[in-house]
Amino acid sequence: MFIKVFYFTYLIIGLHTVSLFSASAFFGDPPDDNHPWAVHDRNRPQPIHVVAGTTNSAPPSDALVLFDGTPDCLRNWRHNKDKDSRKSDWMIQNGSLFCLPGTGSLSSRATFSDCQVHLEWRSQSHENKSGQSRGNSGIFLMELIEVQILDNFQNPTYADGSAGSIYGVMPPAVNALKAPGNWQSYDIIYRRPIFKNGMLLESGSLTVLCNGVVVQAGVPIEGKSTHKIRSFLQKKFPNRGSIKLQDHGDSVQFRNIWVRPLRARPIDGSLDGYIEANRTQLKRKQTAYEIRNKAEKLEGLEKSLLLYESLIYEFNLSAKASANKYASEFLDYLLRIDSEQAVVQKVKIISLYNALKYLNKHSILPTSCPVLERVHSIIVTNNWIDDI
Ligand code: MG
Repeated sequence: MFIKVFYFTYLIIGLHTVSLFSASAFFGDPPDDNHPWAVHDRNRPQPIHVVAGTTNSAPPSDALVLFDGTPDCLRNWRHNKDKDSRKSDWMIQNGSLFCLPGTGSLSSRATFSDCQVHLEWRSQSHENKSGQSRGNSGIFLMELIEVQILDNFQNPTYADGSAGSIYGVMPPAVNALKAPGNWQSYDIIYRRPIFKNGMLLESGSLTVLCNGVVVQAGVPIEGKSTHKIRSFLQKKFPNRGSIKLQDHGDSVQFRNIWVRPLRARPIDGSLDGYIEANRTQLKRKQTAYEIRNKAEKLEGLEKSLLLYESLIYEFNLSAKASANKYASEFLDYLLRIDSEQAVVQKVKIISLYNALKYLNKHSILPTSCPVLERVHSIIVTNNWIDDI
């Protein structure tokens, strides 16, 4: 039937065909009861592009900057103590935010849910002080959970109160502090606990890097931080909250404070991950609907392939019948053209074959499939087995 001498010709034409005609059919393993997407699914939404900071201290493009050294940044914060009861205000000097003893804590005006936080802090050498009295501050997620800030460089204190600890709950895995006088960086990844009807569904977690070193890795949240009191999760927990910087009576400086939201979890409505069955089914149905809508605008084999693709997400007898019809018409057309014209269709033929094999392999189409048998026969006749 067809001959192979026009390989170069079909290749050039193949490059200009729409992406439906690629040698690999569809994707990896298809969607299932708890995954609305196939493996390597090209219909899956692309991640949003974020421009990374020029250094690890600089905010990515999707971060909310709470402090960058400019005076205007004070507007991003509120004092926890009113004017009359605090000794002085937090202030900015040489691009740093200063906590002075007696200022009271400072909270962000913006509130956050699951988030990534970056901040840098520095304490001067306080050789006359020791333990918890040397460069003590803290960053509180939701104003409740403290990641301790402390100059315990060569200054032993209780482990669950040292720098990078989740105060009163979990010591840092290691002490990665630099000597006082150096800037120390924290990168914190916070996932809030989630309750529903008083039931804990997910405990949330904290991950902390101190100077780039992981000191907390997905540690489950046990509740708010309180001195000397064991914390535990109550039956509810706020969805959002401010970030609080602690005044613990020591002078500590801050810089480069920014926060960015994290991708939602499946429990928050994300469709990335292990998804409950009813939501998976709904999404698969929606994807199938969108693909069939696209197919409406096409004709011929292009239409057929899209309709076949829609079956991966939702089986539909009418879509299957239409896909078979348009595929059969394409195969009938091949019988009417001469071999030189037909060989130009090689990429399309192989695309159809691979698509049908995929559906067949994953039991989306039955083992016995007349269209597949016809395509297979064309491929064998033309000796294209090595190309599939
Ligand atoms: Mg503290």
